[in-house]
Amino acid sequence: MQDAVFDDPHGHDPNCIFCNIIAGNAPCRELYRDDTLIAFLDIAPVQPGHTLIVPLRHHVDMFTMSDEEMAAVARFARYMAPVVKLVTDADGLGVHQLNGAAAGQTVFHYHMHLIPAFEGKPPKIHGREPAPAEELDAMVEALRRGM
Ligand code: 5GP
Ligand code: ZN
Repeated sequence: MQDAVFDDPHGHDPNCIFCNIIAGNAPCRELYRDDTLIAFLDIAPVQPGHTLIVPLRHHVDMFTMSDEEMAAVARFARYMAPVVKLVTDADGLGVHQLNGAAAGQTVFHYHMHLIPAFEGKPPKIHGREPAPAEELDAMVEALRRGM
């Protein structure tokens, strides 16, 4: 059976990790999903609570995103950012979105980062190591409770 996402003119990219997460072929710690987007925890968080907001359609970057998809991502970010900040007790929250390798993008399926920020810790966009599974499990539960 064909999934609606696969019918998309932008196509599902079988080599794309986020398309595989969306299709249920790869695991993620999901926070939210609707007809347009999915949100899940970053596997290698800069800080605990690092969240990604991802359109269901495979857009490499922002340049092919529709106004509606951009608006949906922005709307959900506006909802989720205070939850992440509150649950992680962060001093601030970085909203980052990279387009192209030159900008530091490493996964070529559009996504927006929500990254808790703390006084005295230099802001970063990328973590290095995958976080321990128990830490991610506890965080996804805490964020779900906060939503
Ligand atoms: P970019 O550099 O493209 O802006 O960010 C890509 C992000 O995706 C990185 O923060 C990276 O840790 C995250 N990431 C890469 N692979 C996976 C994965 O398989 N699952 C999850 N949840 N995050 C991933
Ligand atoms: Zn993709």
